[in-house]
Amino acid sequence: MTLEWDVTIVGCGPVGAYAANLLGQAGLRVLVLERDMAPYALPRAVHVDHEMLRLLEDADLLAPFKDKLLAGDGHLHIGADHGVIRYLSAVDKARAFGYANDYFFYQPELEEVLRAGLTRYPNVTLRLGQEVTGLEIMDEGARLTLGDETIQTRWVLGTDGARSMVRKAIGVQLDDLNFEEPWLVVDAEVDGPISFPDLTGVPENANLQRLSVMMCDPSRPATIVPGRGNHRRWEFMLLPGEDDVQMSQPETVAALVEPWVQNAPHRIIRAATYRFHGLVATDWCVGPVFLAGDAAHQTPPFFGQGMCHGMRDVANLAWKLALVSGGEADTRLLDTYQPERDAQVRHVIGKAIDAGQYICVLDPVEAQVRDERVRAQSDIRTAADLIAPIASGITGKGAGERFINPAVRDDGTLLDSVTGGGWVLLSRSEMTVTPEATAVLAQLGARQVVVSRDMSDPEGHLDAWFKAHQADHVLVRPDFYTAAVSASASLMGDEIVRLGRAMGLGQSISTKVASS
Ligand SMILES: Cc1cc2nc3c(=O)[nH]c(=O)nc-3n(C[C@H](O)[C@H](O)[C@H](O)COP(=O)(O)OP(=O)(O)OC[C@H]3O[C@@H](n4cnc5c(N)ncnc54)[C@H](O)[C@@H]3O)c2cc1C
Repeated sequence: MTLEWDVTIVGCGPVGAYAANLLGQAGLRVLVLERDMAPYALPRAVHVDHEMLRLLEDADLLAPFKDKLLAGDGHLHIGADHGVIRYLSAVDKARAFGYANDYFFYQPELEEVLRAGLTRYPNVTLRLGQEVTGLEIMDEGARLTLGDETIQTRWVLGTDGARSMVRKAIGVQLDDLNFEEPWLVVDAEVDGPISFPDLTGVPENANLQRLSVMMCDPSRPATIVPGRGNHRRWEFMLLPGEDDVQMSQPETVAALVEPWVQNAPHRIIRAATYRFHGLVATDWCVGPVFLAGDAAHQTPPFFGQGMCHGMRDVANLAWKLALVSGGEADTRLLDTYQPERDAQVRHVIGKAIDAGQYICVLDPVEAQVRDERVRAQSDIRTAADLIAPIASGITGKGAGERFINPAVRDDGTLLDSVTGGGWVLLSRSEMTVTPEATAVLAQLGARQVVVSRDMSDPEGHLDAWFKAHQADHVLVRPDFYTAAVSASASLMGDEIVRLGRAMGLGQSISTKVASS
C-alpha cells in the first residue's frame, strides 16, 4: 500500500514545528495537523542553551532568530540571608560549542520563525484548525481521525503537548518522578532596570540585569529572569495555603512584582499558576507512533530545559526516520529512539528536581543549612553541563557525548558551517578506512573532514578535545552527538562497520562491497 504521508505530526508547538522543518529538509512527505489557528501567543519557555542554537542553525533557522535572543551572563543564587550562595558566570567563557551557554528569548517569536521555515518545503503541509480526535494503528502505518476525515500515514509523531491525545490513544502512561510544586509565573514588559533587594557577596563585575537570579529565600522562593528587549520573567513559589486563583489576581501580582519594578514603568502581560512536576512517558514509541516534547516528558523549569529536551528528541528521531524512509536503514534503527533519549531526559529531570528541592526549602533553619552546604561546594556545574552522554544506542565505546562546535577559522566560522552537518568523520590528519567502512559512510552520506587540511583550530578546542579523548578520529551523528571515537584508522573503520550493522545497513553494505 502506498501511504500519502511518511510522517504526520500532531501538534505544531515548537517541538512539532522543529520536527517538521528537519523532516522537510530530509525530503520526507510531512503533514502537520494543529488544533489552533495561531501559535500560543504568550511565552512559556524563555531559556535555551547553546545546543538549541546549533540545532536551529542546522535547519537554517538561526539567522532569522538570532537578533531576537539575549545571551545571558549566567546564574546567581541567593540564600536565606540574601547573600550569594552560588555564582555561575558565563561572561568571557571559552565557547567550545560555538555559542554562549544560555540565551533568553520570547517563545511566540521562536514559534513564528519555526512555522515560517515550513513554507520552504513543498513536501510539508501545515493544516491549522485541525484537531485530531482518533488514532488507530494499522497493519501498515496508522490512521488518524479529524472530524469526518481520516488520514493514513506511515508514521505518527505526537508532539501535542502535556495533555497529549496521541499518548492517551496509544495507552501510554506517565512515570511520576515525585515532584509537584505550585508556582506563579509572571511576564512583564519593563522599561528600565529591575530593582534588587540589598544583596551581599555579588561580584563587582556581575550585572544583575543580565543574570538569571534565583532567590532561595524561604519566605518566598522566586526566580527573576532577563528577557530579550524589555521582557522580564518572574516565577514565585506559592506558599502552603495560598490559592491559585487568588494569587493570579492583578492586585496580588502587582504587589509581588512591585518591589522589583519600583523605578520602572511596566506592563504585566500575563500571570498564571503552574504545577511544576517531573513526568516521563513509560513508552516513547508504540508501533508506528512516536511521542516527543511535552507529550513524552515534563520537567520542573529550573534549568529551562523542557522545550530543549523536545528539540533534542526530534533531532534524534529525524535522521533515523530519514534513513529508514530512504531504505538505507532497517526499521529497528527506530528502536534506539527511546533508549537514547529517555535516559538522558530522566537524568536532567532528576537534576532539575534536585534543584527544585534545594530552591523550594521553606524552613528557615533548613535553608540556612542548605546555604552553608552550597557555599562549601566546589563542583559547580551549569545546566548545559548536565546533558549526559547517550549511554546506549548508535554509539561506540567512549562516544555518545555532544561534539563541540568551535571556531575553525580566524573569522569565527564554526565547525558545523565547514562540515555542513549530517554524518561527519573528522580526523586530525588524512586517513583512509577499509572499503567496507567506506561503503557505510557512503550510505550515510557522511563527509570526511580533516582538521589539518580543511580548517584551523584558532582557539585550540579541537586539539584539546582530541587530546582529552586520546583520539585522532571522531564520527559525529546528524544530531551532533559522537557515534565513534578512535585513536586509529583501522579501529575507527571497525567501529563504523559495527555501527552500520547496528543501524541495519549490513545487508546493503555486503552487497556494495561485493560488487565494488
Ligand atoms: C512556566 C514555564 C516555563 C518554561 N520555561 C522553559 C524554558 O525556559 N526553557 C525550555 O526549554 N522550556 C521551558 N518550558 C517548557 C516549554 O514551554 C515546553 O516544553 C514546550 O512549550 C513544549 O513544546 P511542545 O511542542 O512539546 O508542546 P506545546 O507547546 O504544548 O504544543 C503542543 C501543540 O499541540 C497542539 N495540539 C494539542 N492537541 C492536539 C490535537 N489533538 N490535534 C492537533 N493539535 C493538537 C496544541 O494546540 C499545541 O499547539 C517552560 C514551561 C513552563 C510552563
